[in-house]
Amino acid sequence: MVTKDDIFDALKEVGLRPVDIGGLHITEFGQVQFTIEVDPAKGTELEPLRQKAEQAVNRLNGVTRTMAILTAQRKAPDLTVKNFDPHGMSKNPKLNNLPIKNIVAVASGKGGVGKSTVAVNLAYALRRRGLKVGLLDADIYGPSVPLMTGIKSQKPQIENEKLVPLEHNGLKVMSIGFLTEGDQALIWRGPMVQTALYQMLRDVAWGSAENPMDVLVIDMPPGTGDAQLTLAQKVPVTGAIIVSTPQDISLIDARKAIEMFRKTDVAILGVVENMSTYICSQCGHEDHIFGHGGAAREAEKLGVPFLAEIPLSIHIRLKSDEGKIIEDPVFDKIASTLKLKG
Ligand code: ADP
Repeated sequence: MVTKDDIFDALKEVGLRPVDIGGLHITEFGQVQFTIEVDPAKGTELEPLRQKAEQAVNRLNGVTRTMAILTAQRKAPDLTVKNFDPHGMSKNPKLNNLPIKNIVAVASGKGGVGKSTVAVNLAYALRRRGLKVGLLDADIYGPSVPLMTGIKSQKPQIENEKLVPLEHNGLKVMSIGFLTEGDQALIWRGPMVQTALYQMLRDVAWGSAENPMDVLVIDMPPGTGDAQLTLAQKVPVTGAIIVSTPQDISLIDARKAIEMFRKTDVAILGVVENMSTYICSQCGHEDHIFGHGGAAREAEKLGVPFLAEIPLSIHIRLKSDEGKIIEDPVFDKIASTLKLKG
């Protein structure tokens, strides 16, 4: 049985110290996975280094498969370098042959608007329609899918050089959060975000040519950054759903996100207004704490479909944060409006 020390020794030979390694996990079948926390200044060496690290560990007795993923470390952010492509992303081909019939990205202009809540429960609603559904948590700034599905502590296995997504309540689930240690906060730089999203699509066993997945729902990071670019340039995406709360501040950011997707030719499947109406659980009185109807008006102005209003509800908050399924018809409504390839 290979030990963590054996792995650290092998990684030392390719110039990696134990402090560079995160989330090291060895399964009883000798499958090894870890993240390499790299100094962004060494950008150009990163992908070859990742490969060398995988090979070095693979050579150890008792190791059957290795998977290494690059991440940027909190203490080494270098946000000044622009326009460089250390991972050769520009040369990576578009992922045209993924075994997934439809890819739906759930996006938002800003964080905290309920994007993950919508992504997770839309995935469950699609599953209730009898489809084969996957959920990819690409929100590397705050992966919340492990919490919202309640599968925080499990680690995905590797088979045939692919990460096997975790099966949960009938969904295939993968999150960058499964590969990092505990609540470790990572700071990601552009190229790494791009590579991580690309790898999470290419190197995860979502389905096979004979048995493709019907829909993959991606919980995107908020904003208009590198993950959105990768999605637009490298992923045959069906389209994006934009989640916004009714406040102006959220709508302004939602508009920016819509504009970005349009510029990069990603179809907008529609807008969802979350935390819309508040219905008091005691007396049934209805209030509009963050305003109401702003997202519907914005959608109309921009000429994109308005999909649904989700109420601000303690029931949603508790279920979502306890990792439970929210069986609210509003999610079934969103699922039923999506035009998907059969
Ligand atoms: P994002 O992915 O946009 O950052 P989350 O889905 O993580 O947002 O939601 C942020 C917080 O708001 C979570 O605690 C979640 O449970 C809560 N939340 C989301 N939607 C609602 C809602 N409609 N009613 C009440 N709480 C909500």
